[in-house]
Amino acid sequence: MENMRISQLTASLANLDDMALWLQTKAAAEQEKQCCAAVIAHIAELKKRKLFLLYACKSIFDYCCTVLGYSESKSYLRCQVAGACIRHPELLEDLAAGAISLCVAGKLASRLSEENKEQLLPACHGKTKHQAEVIIAAHLPESVKDSPANKPELVPLSADEYVLRLPITKNLLAKLQRCAEVLGIASMKAQLPELLEKIATITLAAKDPELKATQQAARKKSGARKLAAPSLATPVGSRSEDPSSRPREVTSSTQDSPRTRNIPAATRREVLRRAGYQCQFVTSEGQRCSQRTFLQVDHLQAFAKNGSHESANLQILCQQHNNLKGAQEFGSV
Ligand SMILES: [Zn+2]
Repeated sequence: MENMRISQLTASLANLDDMALWLQTKAAAEQEKQCCAAVIAHIAELKKRKLFLLYACKSIFDYCCTVLGYSESKSYLRCQVAGACIRHPELLEDLAAGAISLCVAGKLASRLSEENKEQLLPACHGKTKHQAEVIIAAHLPESVKDSPANKPELVPLSADEYVLRLPITKNLLAKLQRCAEVLGIASMKAQLPELLEKIATITLAAKDPELKATQQAARKKSGARKLAAPSLATPVGSRSEDPSSRPREVTSSTQDSPRTRNIPAATRREVLRRAGYQCQFVTSEGQRCSQRTFLQVDHLQAFAKNGSHESANLQILCQQHNNLKGAQEFGSV
């Protein structure tokens, strides 16, 4: 496959059946892991022999940037891991076997020691970068706590923006993750400012007497009995937008009246509770989808095919799996 032109490869992939494509993707990923470990091994050997000096490079990092053409961050990661692999060859074996990713190896690189590697390496097998960070913090709390990056900080970034950095407890993290799910925020980490803004808005709308007084005054002034709430109070007043508590119903057909398609709120709540507020799509190998946001109620027997709103005929699917099911059942979404 190495010598195959990418256009030929693309054309051959388009002709594969699903099973062959899965198998070939897994094989390509395996190959990538092997290549990655081989690159690290080569960089480590070059570093040991100081061969980069012959290329007029002042360091192995410089060599990676200028000769190998990696970006600065990629060069730094590879040099850091190569250095750790010289001291701890087990790390290179784990990389080649695919037990540890390059990102996780980077997290371990400066922290591995003769004393901790027998425990730390196996503990990080098959873990994501975030999971590995949690494991490292549990094994070596002092190495994480002492980092200046972990001191609470509120730094002005511009006239209107700040950087907030602070250590938080596992309990608070779990609460924030649940808030993100309930508020329909797909990535807590990537959308943290948006999440905090929503939490602050909802809290103020519920608890701030000054805001309530302002809203009351506005209502009196307008004289309207059912005035739409100001934007600050919107999240509380618009619970129907909460995708976890009120998921959107499957709409496979647009011919039915929306009134008849409405699933009673109590039934929706029951189905969500039964599903554990998580997508119920399960692969043939028994792996369940982990999506807990943008959940939708799906009819096992489609509504368009006379499926009822009985809870026994309902399940919870994420938007993507709901679309997939619709495509499989009706040919398009
Ligand atoms: Zn799903």
